[in-house]
Amino acid sequence: MPSSRPVLSFAVRVSLLLVLGACQPARTLPLRPGEDPTALRYRVTYVREPVHALDVELVLVGENAPRDFLFTQPGGVDRVRVFGPEGSGHELSVSPEGRVLVPRDTRLLRYRYPLEARVRGARPDFSSGMGEGDSWHVAGRAWLLRPRVVSPSLRAELVVEGVDALLPWEPDASGVYRLEGGDLVDSGFHAFGGRRCTVRLPDAVMEVAVLGHMSRMDDAGLCAWLHQAASEVLTVRRHFPYPRITVRVIPVPGRQAPAVFGMVLWSSPPSVSVLVGQEAGPEFFPRDWVAVHELLHLAHPTFVPHIAWLSEGLATYYTELARARSGRQTPEQAWAELVSGFSRGRAAVGTRTMEDVMTHGASFQGIYWTGALFALLVDVELRRATGNTRSLDEVLERLASSGPTATFDEFGAAVDAVAGRSLFHELLERHLSQPAFAGVEPLLQALGVEPGPDGVRLGAARDSQVREALEGARRGPVTAKFGARMSDRDPFVSRDGSPRHVQLPPLTQ
Ligand SMILES: [Zn+2]
Repeated sequence: MPSSRPVLSFAVRVSLLLVLGACQPARTLPLRPGEDPTALRYRVTYVREPVHALDVELVLVGENAPRDFLFTQPGGVDRVRVFGPEGSGHELSVSPEGRVLVPRDTRLLRYRYPLEARVRGARPDFSSGMGEGDSWHVAGRAWLLRPRVVSPSLRAELVVEGVDALLPWEPDASGVYRLEGGDLVDSGFHAFGGRRCTVRLPDAVMEVAVLGHMSRMDDAGLCAWLHQAASEVLTVRRHFPYPRITVRVIPVPGRQAPAVFGMVLWSSPPSVSVLVGQEAGPEFFPRDWVAVHELLHLAHPTFVPHIAWLSEGLATYYTELARARSGRQTPEQAWAELVSGFSRGRAAVGTRTMEDVMTHGASFQGIYWTGALFALLVDVELRRATGNTRSLDEVLERLASSGPTATFDEFGAAVDAVAGRSLFHELLERHLSQPAFAGVEPLLQALGVEPGPDGVRLGAARDSQVREALEGARRGPVTAKFGARMSDRDPFVSRDGSPRHVQLPPLTQ
């Protein structure tokens, strides 16, 4: 590498690829004239007896239909029944790895996925199924049998009967989901049953499934809470990143926290699910950070390969800024959250270098807050380099204009393009070899952020105008519409030590 353009060391690059797993989203090849692209037809029937379950019938269409299938997350189905041309059926075992290889003359296969965990001999789980009554949450990867290798031109049709479903995709007018191979691989989160509301933004809609009952909060309040969080994404991006997304809300008995866990899965479009405390009342929701954090993951591209510290860092950083920009928290609260997070990150990684944390990983506190600090460093340097006229927000806009995915190098190139000079690798060279949080104190001092025993004091400093621009509203305050008053006097709430959200990488197989 020429020394004039320092880059991530080869070791870092290779490690990122190995540790984070290389993967490419499926792409679609043009079809040949006259070719019937549909190779798979799924008919999913929700049944209530003897247990709540999904009965799946999968028709293999044509000679080129796949024969080698996989439950991406095995454990929910032990056996499938396959049927040949004469209609006679026999059972096949699902391998411990989730694989099912069907005979060449198979026309149809059937299986049942029990939504109730006890039937599967397991505990209720965010991914493999949790719910009550006629409201169930499950990830497609647990119940949807899909081809082990997906050809880019593969098409599938899927219908759900017996219940109102909320899948990541939008069905056509006749209720058929028309899917591509990549949809079967990255199939996202699914809701069966429950109640619905729709959150409308200026240029997007969010379809919400509420899967269970809340003791002290009605559905309108839950959807207003999500509306607030989605509106805060617009303090970072000019438009909501996707015209339509789906969100599932699952109440957890005995919990008072407004959101106890959240996750984004990279279906197309991404799908979001959040666990909320069943006992949480309206007064708790204005302090929640989980929903806006998850939705802010939509504001950055899917990094290919997955780069946890970068995606989590961006979302964690903007979680504080967006809530300050909307007026939901004061700038002092936002900086106190960042300072507190950096301190937890430092406690988690000690004196390890930034390069070491980024390459070899760390606990979630170490990963998230190293990434958040890096995001702050990039944002501040961009603003310094451009007389406080351009920012990290523009990097995200620029990347979004190139599509839903980006590589690490494309992220760096976008930073340089916004800066108008080579900035990204200069930053990496300056910080990678230092202890991950070594740069915090001088940076805060330059920004006029003075940590103290009771939070932070903000004052005049060399870059205090940069700080004010970071925390400033992009297009005016976002108005909260739910019952609880949003006030900058809301008490500062520290985060506890448990991870409350995870972002899963896209899956290749
Ligand atoms: Zn996250």
